Amino acid sequence: MQVACFSTKSYDQEFLSEALEGSTHDFRFLKPELNHDTVVLADEAEAVCAFVNDNLDRPVLEALKVAGIRSVVLRCAGFNNIDLQAAKDFGIRVARVPKYSPYAVAEHTIALVLTLNRRIHKAYNRVRDSNFSLEGLIGFDLHGRSFGIIGTGEIGKVLASIVAGFGCRVLLYDIHPDESLTSIGEYVGLDELLRQSDIVSLQCPLNEHTHHLINRSALESMKPGAMLVNTSRGGLVDATAAIACLKSRHLGGLALDVYEEESGLFFNDLSAQVIQDDVLTRLITFPNVLITSHQAFFTTDAMKTIAATTVQNLDQLAAGGEVLNEVKLDNK
Ligand code: NAD
Repeated sequence: MQVACFSTKSYDQEFLSEALEGSTHDFRFLKPELNHDTVVLADEAEAVCAFVNDNLDRPVLEALKVAGIRSVVLRCAGFNNIDLQAAKDFGIRVARVPKYSPYAVAEHTIALVLTLNRRIHKAYNRVRDSNFSLEGLIGFDLHGRSFGIIGTGEIGKVLASIVAGFGCRVLLYDIHPDESLTSIGEYVGLDELLRQSDIVSLQCPLNEHTHHLINRSALESMKPGAMLVNTSRGGLVDATAAIACLKSRHLGGLALDVYEEESGLFFNDLSAQVIQDDVLTRLITFPNVLITSHQAFFTTDAMKTIAATTVQNLDQLAAGGEVLNEVKLDNK
């Protein structure tokens, strides 16, 4: 198939080109994100390959249909950025990479927690400046602390076993509890998890039920001084409410790999530009906020699997039969 591949970075091209060896699919690697202005770049393609911040809303999908696109392959697990009803209406089939490396995301979550708790980012800079003082670097033992995980799917499960290994008390919440986890953690209600956890980590999808799941009242119901970690999707957290709770000192720490308005910002070097997003820039100023720019998935292992699964999805879509990783309306 002729494939228009949006939001392409050098690393996407490298891993996809390797996975495409021996394949008949012809990729047009495009740097821009897919949106209303750039959809025209998909002209004469048969499929679109998209990533997390590409916008596949109804008008974009309609333009893709007019351009003759019949398939969309997502290089990610989440599918909150595509209007599945519109895709169905326009006869566009959608596939994703449901599971590429839950370890990559769970391990990055732990990297954020440990860095923020033990102030490793500050210590690194201090030592480089021959400042060997420990003032302000104190953290707490994870052992014995309560670690709450919201969403116990592929990533939440791996995270639960890692934090159980640290000796944490593992609290779990999911709308579909997984009985196999009850040997290492305890399922509780969302309110109880928020009230009892020293660290709360979000591992659930973004959808109409989870948008701003962590709003002002959820933040205020958290333990005073607790840490919140979001490595799922930015829209799960009301960032303005988080700023208020950081200013009041109720929220003790915030680690983010995702941000609701990250599109157009994350994945890009904007170091010489004036950032217009006042919420993000305020967040960056807090000493107890740590932000990475949607990096949790970014391991060689995950990239290889994403590329290989994307090519496999295209093979199955081109064949016109069953597509193992098809995203259908009832996936919601
Ligand atoms: P998954 O589908 O295996 O698990 C998601 C879990 O969330 C399921 O068990 C589901 O029942 C649960 N859930 C759904 N709605 C819920 C709700 N309202 N409250 C509590 N739990 C709910 O998905 P996964 O592979 O574990 O990935 C989780 C999310 O992580 C993805 O949706 C994606 O947005 C995000 N993600 C982020 C990165 C990154 O690089 N930062 C990479 C991969 C995935």
